[in-house]
Amino acid sequence: FSDMTALHHANVELKRTLGERDAAYGEIEKKNEELHRLATRDPMTGAYNRRAFTESHANLFKTASEARLPLNCLVLDIDFFKKVNDTHGHSIGDRVIQEVARLLQAHARPVDLVCRYGGEEFVMVLPGLNLGEANAVAERIRMAIQRNCGPSVKEVPGMRVTASLGLAALEQGAKTPAELIDQADHALYVAKKSGRNRVCLYGVDESAALEEPAQAAPA
Ligand code: GH3
Ligand code: MG
Ligand code: MG
Repeated sequence: FSDMTALHHANVELKRTLGERDAAYGEIEKKNEELHRLATRDPMTGAYNRRAFTESHANLFKTASEARLPLNCLVLDIDFFKKVNDTHGHSIGDRVIQEVARLLQAHARPVDLVCRYGGEEFVMVLPGLNLGEANAVAERIRMAIQRNCGPSVKEVPGMRVTASLGLAALEQGAKTPAELIDQADHALYVAKKSGRNRVCLYGVDESAALEEPAQAAPA
C-alpha cells in the first residue's frame, strides 16, 4: 500500500509539472504571436507594415513571374483627407483610416496582401486574378468605401468618404515588385487628376483622363 501511495503521489506530481510546462509553452507561443504581430502589422489598422509587406510582395512577385501567373497591385489613397483632419480633427481622421482599412481587409482573400503604405494610403496585392477580375474587386472596394466608410464614423453624421484607386497588373510588364507599385501609383495619380472617387488602370485610362480639369474639395 505504501508503495502504491508513493507511486500515486509521484504521478500527481509529474502531471502537475507537465501541466505547468504546457502552460509555459502556451504562454511563450502567445508572446511569440504577439511579437510577430507587432513586428509585421501597423498598430492602428492591423494592416501589414511596409517592411513585412515588401517581403511578402517580393515572394508573390517572384512566384508569379516564374510561373507566369497573374498578379495585380492596387494603390488606394483617401480623397481630400487633409480636409477631414482640418474640419473634424485628427482623431476622426484616424477613425476614417481605420474604417478604410477594415473594409479593405473585409474584401481581401487570405492570399491577398493589405498594407498601410503611408498615412492614408494603402497598397493591396491580389494574386491569381485576371485584370478584369482585379478591376471588379477594385470597383467593389471603391463603392463600398463610398457607401459605408462615412456612415460608420458615427461621431460625424452625414460624413462622406471616398477614395481613388490605381491598378496595375504584372502582365503589363513590370520587372520588379517596386515597378509594379509605381505603375499602380501612376494610375492612382491619373484617378486623382481626373476627378477622384474612381479606379484607373495603368496604361489604359491615362491619356483621356489627364485632359479633364481637377476637382475641387467638397465644402
Ligand atoms: P488627395 O485627394 O489629393 O489625396 O488630397 P488629400 O487631402 O487626401 O492629400 P494627401 O493624400 O496628400 O493627404 C495626406 C494627409 O493625411 C496629410 C496628413 O496630414 C494626413 N495623415 C497622414 N497620416 C495620418 C494619420 O495617421 N492620421 C491622420 N488623422 N491623418 C494622417
Ligand atoms: Mg495621400
Ligand atoms: Mg489623400
